Amino acid sequence: MTVPLIGVLALQGDVVDHMRALEAAGAKAVPVRRAAELDAVDGLVIPGGESTAMSKLLEAFDLFDPVKKRLDEGMPAFGSCAGMIMLADEVLDGRPDQRSFGVIPMTVRRNAFGRQVDSFETEIGIEGISGAPFRAVFIRAPWVERVGDGVAVLGRVENGGDSGDAPDGRIVAVRAGACLATSFHPEVTPDARVHEYFVDMVRGTAAEPAVR
Ligand code: GLN
Repeated sequence: MTVPLIGVLALQGDVVDHMRALEAAGAKAVPVRRAAELDAVDGLVIPGGESTAMSKLLEAFDLFDPVKKRLDEGMPAFGSCAGMIMLADEVLDGRPDQRSFGVIPMTVRRNAFGRQVDSFETEIGIEGISGAPFRAVFIRAPWVERVGDGVAVLGRVENGGDSGDAPDGRIVAVRAGACLATSFHPEVTPDARVHEYFVDMVRGTAAEPAVR
């Protein structure tokens, strides 16, 4: 699998930028709107957008259960922002009817940074990604408040005035087995290193991070 086939869930949100970034990272990218398209892919990106809308559309397109099944079988997945929310097993500040796949044992708070500021950019270090810090773009982003067993924290961000109860910063990048999730949007910058990391996960060549 030198050039893996990676789907981007294309019901809503930031699809085209992820496809471009995946191609830049050495994969072949295809949009996924139907179960037959899902069957063909080696891995799946769940893009940013709006998790409440994505949850509804997954059900309307009869895709929720097929995606959940592939995830439970171990298909590699990368969720950014709303996609991170979709992978979590607990969502705070969500709508009561919103569903998530529950494949990463973590608690994610929606629109968490939005209490201070809706959108911002900052440079962060990401475990497993070498070289210069990564420019992370946050847009009405969630943060991770709890990680369960087997979840490696790959990145955190200092959060100015609100870091009192999180002295090490807020968790914004995690990996649990075949699943990667970021609060931020690596697809909106030209730096393809997060997508390269995910493509390596799909190939099975990305080293397992340490779980602390
Ligand atoms: N606030 C959005 C949600 O709850 C996520 C925002 C984003 O994906 N940029 O789904």
